[in-house]
Amino acid sequence: MRTAIYPGSFDPITLGHLNLIKRASKTFDKVIVCVMRNGSKNPLFSADERLEQVKRVTAKFGNVEVDSYEGLIADYARQCGANVLIRGLRALTDFESECMMAIVNKKLYPELETLFLAADEKYMYHSSSGAKELARFGADLRQWCPWEVIGELETRIKGESK
Ligand code: ADP
Repeated sequence: MRTAIYPGSFDPITLGHLNLIKRASKTFDKVIVCVMRNGSKNPLFSADERLEQVKRVTAKFGNVEVDSYEGLIADYARQCGANVLIRGLRALTDFESECMMAIVNKKLYPELETLFLAADEKYMYHSSSGAKELARFGADLRQWCPWEVIGELETRIKGESK
């Protein structure tokens, strides 16, 4: 069985993330979306909230599982017996940091291959931070985030400014 892991912060999950999950689920027998709990980014949503959001948004995919992890993704991959890591490449800006991460992960777990999927042109400039910024200014988020998370994002952003 070919299993791939797709790790990220998903704070919150965007249509760009969802597009990658959908494409990966067609290519692999099983995709594990791993919500990273590593605390350095001061997230808008807690890890448990992000886990619940990603579960809700991906419930329609029969071969997608959602988990969360705190630690090195290489260790997580080894524990699940997965040797493919999916990452997305948007504009050139992702390239350097993503390549560096792929090299580090390969050193930590040599059987682990990082597979880059090019962002769909529709979502090339979508990011969680962009979605949060738009939410702060009351923009229509339907082109950015799955409908299942838009209400929560708007409410959390409103609460932030109180
Ligand atoms: P990080 O927290 O590492 O910046 P994210 O949690 O935002 O990453 O996303 C996880 C992965 O999804 C990364 O590989 C990132 O490049 C990819 N990604 C994010 N947004 C998009 C998008 N719009 N299209 C394709 N890939 C994306």
